[in-house]
Amino acid sequence: MAVPKRKTTPSRRGMRRAHDSIGAMAHNECSNCGELKQAHHVCGACGYYDGREVVAQSKSEEAAN
Ligand SMILES: [Zn+2]
Repeated sequence: MAVPKRKTTPSRRGMRRAHDSIGAMAHNECSNCGELKQAHHVCGACGYYDGREVVAQSKSEEAAN
């Protein structure tokens, strides 16, 4: 079995992990209601995707819009 010759120092480990952070998710405004939504996902606020309603909304939320 291959074995590392030297122990990884905390400095080296930190340098390796410097690029491991998770970036911000892609988001943009819903074309129907203007709410920020995840790209390529159904809008959580109005249930629209690609210009049509794909998830039915409750009556109270429709009245608000
Ligand atoms: Zn929307």
